[in-house]
Amino acid sequence: MKVFYDERQRLHDPQIQFFAGKLQLAPEHPSRTRRLLNAALESGFVQAQPADLGWDPILKIHDAGYIAFLKAASLLWSKLDDAGPECVPHIHPVRYGRTRPRGILGLAGYYMNGTNCPIGPHTVEAAYWSAQAALAGADQIIAGEALCYALCRPPGHHAHSDLAGGFCFLNNAAIAAQRLLDRYERVAIIDVDVHHGNGTQEIFYSRDDVFCGSVHADPSDFYPFYQGYANEEGEGEGFGWNMNLPLPHGSGDEKVVGAVQRLCARARELDCQVIVVALGLDAFELDPMGKFRVTTPAFEDMARAFQHCEMPVLLVQEGGYDGPHLGENLRSFLRPFATTNVSGEARISTAQH
Ligand SMILES: [Zn+2]
Repeated sequence: MKVFYDERQRLHDPQIQFFAGKLQLAPEHPSRTRRLLNAALESGFVQAQPADLGWDPILKIHDAGYIAFLKAASLLWSKLDDAGPECVPHIHPVRYGRTRPRGILGLAGYYMNGTNCPIGPHTVEAAYWSAQAALAGADQIIAGEALCYALCRPPGHHAHSDLAGGFCFLNNAAIAAQRLLDRYERVAIIDVDVHHGNGTQEIFYSRDDVFCGSVHADPSDFYPFYQGYANEEGEGEGFGWNMNLPLPHGSGDEKVVGAVQRLCARARELDCQVIVVALGLDAFELDPMGKFRVTTPAFEDMARAFQHCEMPVLLVQEGGYDGPHLGENLRSFLRPFATTNVSGEARISTAQH
């Protein structure tokens, strides 16, 4: 079992976000990767370097104008008079925008849906390698592996085709799902992050080859606010291929794991052949960003629901914020896979780390 991760994913080091009228420290730290990587290695996974597949597989999901913006944003920002070190918009087109503006201040609002996705000098490089980790994981599954873990950071599920948001720049799960369609006809993305995977939903909303299922905290008073409701079932050919299970804030193990089981059942009904798990760990009861009361052992129950689907599983890391429990929760999730699949090679490698 492999965990794909590149050290360059740590280079994105966001400093600030604006929340509830206050400037805060950005919570999506590079240090998350260390806790997650150690937990994967301790669970019997072997670290592997993702190959560099270039931008082409990313451009199958993301808009070319958006990618050009991401690449140029930090440099253009640095040329503004008296600007801060990170590209953070202060204005957004929201409902009335019809024209893409020319200058970086307007472009930032056009391509970023909030202040919680600051672009620094190394953000694009980190996001690129995070997407490459997802692609490498997809290629492992295509090569015949039953399970692979893509340690994607920065995360991806709030990134739309042409919009950054919620700490996310490139939608790693969507990029991986698209890659898996090279071999499979129908892919399921099941998102267990406490926040709705709004970017992923919108990317596949009218398609009938990728099922998007998500269990998350009720968005009527929680990020991402504008999507994630139960009546969003897909449109056109994609009708029935989107399933949202928003749960009340404070929901615990039984409700959340039960919702995961329902999403897995829907993926089987649709005859999906492979599952991408958008693996947020912020449903945890003590997560600083969370609203659920999921306990550490329940992550193991969630994993068993995926195992029971009897399909290959690609794990793509989403949220889950720093603290002593982050690694413990990942170890709990990986435990059912580790106990059934761990190889001698994996154990030796773990000992070396
Ligand atoms: Zn989240």
